[in-house]
Amino acid sequence: MRPFEFTRAPSLKEAGSLTAASDSMAIAGGTNLLDLMKLQVETPSRLADLNRLGFAQIEDTDDGGLLLGALATNTETAVHPRVRRDYPVLARAILAGATQQLRNKATNGGNLCQRTRCFYFTNIDQPCNKREPGSGCGAIDGIAKLHAILGTSDQCIATYPGDMAVALSALDATVLVSGPGTDRSVPLREFHVLPGDTPWVENVLERGEIITGITLPPPVGGTQLYRKVRERSSYAFALVSIAAIVEIADGKFTRADLAFGGLAHKPWHDPHLADALVGQAPSRELFDTAADILLEDARGYGENDFKIPLARRTLHAVLQQAAEDAA
Ligand SMILES: Cc1cc2nc3c(=O)[nH]c(=O)nc-3n(C[C@H](O)[C@H](O)[C@H](O)COP(=O)(O)OP(=O)(O)OC[C@H]3O[C@@H](n4cnc5c(N)ncnc54)[C@H](O)[C@@H]3O)c2cc1C
Ligand code: SF4
Repeated sequence: MRPFEFTRAPSLKEAGSLTAASDSMAIAGGTNLLDLMKLQVETPSRLADLNRLGFAQIEDTDDGGLLLGALATNTETAVHPRVRRDYPVLARAILAGATQQLRNKATNGGNLCQRTRCFYFTNIDQPCNKREPGSGCGAIDGIAKLHAILGTSDQCIATYPGDMAVALSALDATVLVSGPGTDRSVPLREFHVLPGDTPWVENVLERGEIITGITLPPPVGGTQLYRKVRERSSYAFALVSIAAIVEIADGKFTRADLAFGGLAHKPWHDPHLADALVGQAPSRELFDTAADILLEDARGYGENDFKIPLARRTLHAVLQQAAEDAA
């Protein structure tokens, strides 16, 4: 690990000033950033520690929703009574990620900004356009089992690896951001971006911007599921995951908010899926139509070709379970 300066940011303004410089980064739980610094994938000269800033609250919002502080830990969030009661898809997604020890330390803000798990990204002697622009993408003709099948580019086929944000996408959450100029709110569905020609850009945060919280809309009820398909039953990232909030009335879908992990550079949300499902009665044919819509533009890269049928089968299973639970 290279030497670096460590400053405890005393205020949000100071945190913004400290992280505005190109050689500085924010640190919260450190469970992702410190690993990457040890591997020399991230090489900041200065770290601004956010942990004294507050923003660890989890509290009701005026409209009946819930505010999750950026510095609340994943564990505090997953076990919070309102999260468990009103947003069980979020509790399940968080508990499907990492390990208890990591979740005790990992923060909500850090979780959103965690970086990809691509083998070439984390090995500095390998080509990787995300880590070293212009060096090439080792994964496209190489080790690509974990990689994306949707929204890829010829520059990068990495996935966003997190679980929590997949549930937040299904819930249509909002990310609260404080910046040097002004504060802003970003829909979670627009927070992460596709790789395009700039794979090193993973989200819409600008230099000096700090996430202060995440807001959840008022609860909608329905059946809430999080299914994560992975190689081991714990301590493994998703091959495919689905967060689903589904309601059925009079034998027909009245709500079908779905988001997918493990498939793209961002939690994948396709509004056409809800359009196809709502108003229809659950059936194998309907689930096939939904999978056709989801996977219309899917492309495998050899090692990850299996993800296309896996995503189809997982979507079938989730919709079938949701239909049975809601009946
Ligand atoms: C072995 C292992 C297994 C894991 N498995 C899973 C898994 O299955 N599913 C899953 O979802 N995750 C998994 N993780 C990832 C883990 O969830 C993340 O490391 C964690 O959530 C990051 O949070 P942190 O607070 O430690 O972030 P840090 O490591 O402190 O920071 C991560 C990034 O976020 C930035 N950042 C942090 N806070 C803010 C903020 N408030 N505003 C702006 N930028 C900020 C930092 O600058 C840095 O770039 C795993 C991690 C490990 C080590
Ligand atoms: S997939 Fe993206 S992160 Fe992985 S090697 Fe290619 S450019 Fe780098």
